[in-house]
Amino acid sequence: MKIRKRKIWKNYVWDQTIDPLKYFKPTCLADLITIVKSASTRGYHVKPIGSGHSSSDIALSTDYMIDTHGLDRMLNTNLLSLRPGAVGAPGAAGALEKPGSIVLVECGIRLHALNKLLDDQGMALYNMGAYTGQTLAGVVSTSTHGSGISLGAFPEYVEAIVLLGEDGELYHLERSGDRALSTAPIRLDTDVPIHFVQSDEDFLAAGVSMGCMGIIYAVALRVRSSYMLNETRSFGRWSEVRQLLEKGDVLRDNRHYEVLINPYRYKGRDYKCLVTARNIEEKIKKGPLIPRGHRKLAYELPLLLVPDFILNALMRMVINWFPRFVPDLVQMLISTLTVKGYIDKSYKVLDLGKANNLAAYATEIAFPEHRYLDAVDAIIDIVAKDVAEGRQYLSAPFSLRFVRTNAFPLAMQYGKLGSFVCMIEFPTVNRTIGGMETLSRIESAMYAFGGIPHWGQVNHVGGTGKASLARLYPEFNNWLSVYRKYCRKGMFENDFTRRCGISAVDALLFHE
Ligand SMILES: Cc1cc2nc3c(=O)[nH]c(=O)nc-3n(C[C@H](O)[C@H](O)[C@H](O)COP(=O)(O)OP(=O)(O)OC[C@H]3O[C@@H](n4cnc5c(N)ncnc54)[C@H](O)[C@@H]3O)c2cc1C
Repeated sequence: MKIRKRKIWKNYVWDQTIDPLKYFKPTCLADLITIVKSASTRGYHVKPIGSGHSSSDIALSTDYMIDTHGLDRMLNTNLLSLRPGAVGAPGAAGALEKPGSIVLVECGIRLHALNKLLDDQGMALYNMGAYTGQTLAGVVSTSTHGSGISLGAFPEYVEAIVLLGEDGELYHLERSGDRALSTAPIRLDTDVPIHFVQSDEDFLAAGVSMGCMGIIYAVALRVRSSYMLNETRSFGRWSEVRQLLEKGDVLRDNRHYEVLINPYRYKGRDYKCLVTARNIEEKIKKGPLIPRGHRKLAYELPLLLVPDFILNALMRMVINWFPRFVPDLVQMLISTLTVKGYIDKSYKVLDLGKANNLAAYATEIAFPEHRYLDAVDAIIDIVAKDVAEGRQYLSAPFSLRFVRTNAFPLAMQYGKLGSFVCMIEFPTVNRTIGGMETLSRIESAMYAFGGIPHWGQVNHVGGTGKASLARLYPEFNNWLSVYRKYCRKGMFENDFTRRCGISAVDALLFHE
């Protein structure tokens, strides 16, 4: 186990920084257990971190921080005692998808490495977000999502979790009944007890718990056979796209359907948007050596050739010094993204590509299916008002992605009100004047539309008012009871959990 020399920890876009007492980089389960036991006897808080791609304060700790990247192996599925019928059962697969297989993976593997390992074995993730730098446990813990109303967010594809608790004991958590995965606990090379818990309530509570219920050591993940996707991206006018969304066929007829909206009127007329549709390409079975079609080279090439820091500085300069050009900049960004029939392996097509390297943070909010169109209209109004009132611009287009609802009580997509939510994301270029204020104003207004902010993006969730967890998440109090069963001392708490009202039974055992 490595302990890194003192340095300030910064997240991906450097908007969260902290100087923890100790920073660990374990490479095996035994190391992880030693760290937790040591923290337990000394009374320190602990926080597991992935790639630090969250823009919120969820991953910070003043005491021990555990960088999990050294835990990145695919484990042998034979360690699991799979229940007959558990593999190949429809499970968490999308309604339109083929039943899949199970892989067992350590928590700190980055998604791009996981995609490669799966691809080598003819397998693939059912779905993913637009980026692959995050760790597996990181995307599960915050309910990171991609798009598609027949597809779920990351935790939906998790079938079992191996969780390390605050006293150094292990829990093998999974669903019960027909959805159970195993007949006995996972066999790991350790002498600490492994508690086998088949309980929907406990499994779903741990699945999306932002690192505060324990450290996810490994997950059993449902994956499918590898497949190709065909992507088209074309221009639309918001007034027309809005009508299509209201009818809903475009959401049902495409595996993935996303909309990127310019919040500023284009040449005084309609709001322009970019519509992305992706569908499985059945005709081409294997990844072509040269992908068919391509993302616009005029856009990808400069991003490949010009170093990121120069592009970021240029964008920031325009936004901070010449804010009235922001609408043109946003229009230019959208124009560069059109695509004619790009066909490639699923995980390559789902990844947004070089655009991810632009240093930006975002607020992202989940809306119930019957409220999101009103929310879009409200966002456009707020942006127009902010510009008129104080020349404060949203510096990038905002996006709409549609995701199936799920049963994880603290997932933004949790819901019994409908079959899908619309996730609306407002990115803003890093270190631009007024960026954070704009996001905050929009977030605040969005609670009136049933909005629930993404844990991993900038958010002000918590407290007692409209953003309180009990109001946003109807099952929050039940979740808290489960949390307190696993965390009596509050080892994994931090300022974020405190602002959210997540507290252990005997939290005073720990120094505060
Ligand atoms: C460029 C970029 C693109 C993005 N694209 C998307 C997208 O398309 N869709 C989307 O939904 N989000 C997206 N996000 C947000 C991102 O997916 C989430 O913030 C995600 O949680 C980050 O994963 P990470 O590995 O960096 O985890 P971190 O940010 O390091 O940690 C996130 C949380 O997970 C917890 N955690 C980490 N490891 C463990 C563990 N082993 N056990 C228990 N808890 C753990 C941490 O304590 C923390 O609470 C994007 C972010 C960036 C910067």
